[in-house]
Amino acid sequence: MIGGGLAGLSSAVALAEAGFRVRLLEQRPFLGGRASSYTLPSGEHIDNCQHVTLGCCTNLSDFYRRAGAEGLIKFYDELTFVDREGRRSIMKASALPAPIHLAPSLALYSSVAWNGRQRIGRAMLAIARRGGCNSGGDADGASMLEWLRLHGQTEEAIERFWSVVLVSALDENLARTDARYGLDVFWKAFLSNRAGYLIGIPTVPLGTLYGGCRAAVESRGGEVVLRAPVRALRLRDNCVAAIETADGREESADLYVAAVPHDALLDLLPPSLIEREPSFSNLRRLRVSPITGVHFWFDREIMSEPFLTLVDRTTQWIFNKSKLGAGHFLSAASSTASSGPSSGDGGQYLQLVISASYDLLIRSRQEIVDLCLRELREVLPETRAANLLKATVIKEPAATFSPEPGADRWRPAQRTKVPNLFLAGDWTATGWPATMEGAVRSGYMAAEEILAAAGVSRRLVKPDLPVEALARRFAAESKAC
Ligand SMILES: Cc1cc2nc3c(=O)[nH]c(=O)nc-3n(C[C@H](O)[C@H](O)[C@H](O)COP(=O)(O)OP(=O)(O)OC[C@H]3O[C@@H](n4cnc5c(N)ncnc54)[C@H](O)[C@@H]3O)c2cc1C
Repeated sequence: MIGGGLAGLSSAVALAEAGFRVRLLEQRPFLGGRASSYTLPSGEHIDNCQHVTLGCCTNLSDFYRRAGAEGLIKFYDELTFVDREGRRSIMKASALPAPIHLAPSLALYSSVAWNGRQRIGRAMLAIARRGGCNSGGDADGASMLEWLRLHGQTEEAIERFWSVVLVSALDENLARTDARYGLDVFWKAFLSNRAGYLIGIPTVPLGTLYGGCRAAVESRGGEVVLRAPVRALRLRDNCVAAIETADGREESADLYVAAVPHDALLDLLPPSLIEREPSFSNLRRLRVSPITGVHFWFDREIMSEPFLTLVDRTTQWIFNKSKLGAGHFLSAASSTASSGPSSGDGGQYLQLVISASYDLLIRSRQEIVDLCLRELREVLPETRAANLLKATVIKEPAATFSPEPGADRWRPAQRTKVPNLFLAGDWTATGWPATMEGAVRSGYMAAEEILAAAGVSRRLVKPDLPVEALARRFAAESKAC
């Protein structure tokens, strides 16, 4: 197994549990890949960026359970949106059944005029009627923006509702998002099941979630090796014969799973294989999109909510890390040396997230800090009197693959033309966008393929949340599928 992100870890744990002896090689000194945390020189343990899950992410939940981490995710049933005028709207399920459980919240969504809200309601019903249909109808080949315009959405509704939800869910602007992905987000998270939209946030730094994975692999005779970069895959007779490590050693195994980002895979494969096999050469066509995370430490409390979603701002989410529990972990040795306050001494640690942050890539860190601070002062007036003790900006230019129209064509299956080489990663063909759920699904799908190659038919991928009765009736009316 090459790569210790969620795809590699989920595959490794599932295979170890199925009786395989797994050796996992991860180039970095910690596990978790893009969903990881690390220690600052001051001793604080921080996430590279806040990660959230949703109730509809059934495989990620299963993975956390296998890793013994399911109790470390706290779910929230209420989302608060704040717009430029300072109006707050709450998204929370009513007592109504899916797919109309969120309709009362939408009716009160004050950032969009009444006419726009009615149109949002009609578009939501159109999505409910499509059900989980993945193709066909007016979504084929269209961008999400085109689909919304086709369905009569006002510019205000697009900017102040659809974009707010989808840009952070899919890490792409609506004009560059395949409508299928956008419709799927609404169907799975907001329409098919009342629990789909629940927001799950780790109560510990991300890295803490993966401790059980090492134990799961090693207790079954396997090994997890950190600081172990792989430099190349060596092929003989169209099979992987060995991997070459960065220090020039060769290691061989019966089966290989490459669970690295798609551009890293291209660096590992022999160029001749890439050129003759379109499923590899097409990976060059997958584009990437950025996410920027901004960490702020203040000398006092400026926010009481656990998290807020901003409308009409560059900043999309503010996470109150001091309140969420996953913030500001100081080791005893470093606590006195740190310039930042701990949650307990009256200070506050906030993390701001900006998805599809193309405009920020060229801006300096100071400019980004100034911009976000200005927005915070407008949204949270207590910020004006607070002192900013420290700020960190983390730009991830290649945070996820871009879900642009047709991107699915370039996503390869987990089983490859090389009989003993399997792929895992959020970019492989899972049907899901680049998310932790997508990564775990890919890991399970790779493990299923390996089991199948060994003659064992076992379903590891968990089904989606059940479609509730009324939502099923809406979907049954669909003519699109
Ligand atoms: C800033 C940011 C915010 C995000 N927010 C969310 C969110 O809120 N919710 C959500 O669901 N998803 C979110 N995502 C997406 C999510 O993090 C990814 O989809 C998921 O973690 C991808 O997992 P992976 O295992 O496929 O890839 P990776 O996490 O990239 O793992 C690949 C691993 O392979 C290792 N590797 C690479 N090359 C080699 C080599 N040659 N030898 C050995 N090891 C190697 C890497 O070090 C890495 O550990 C976010 C991503 C980013 C960047």
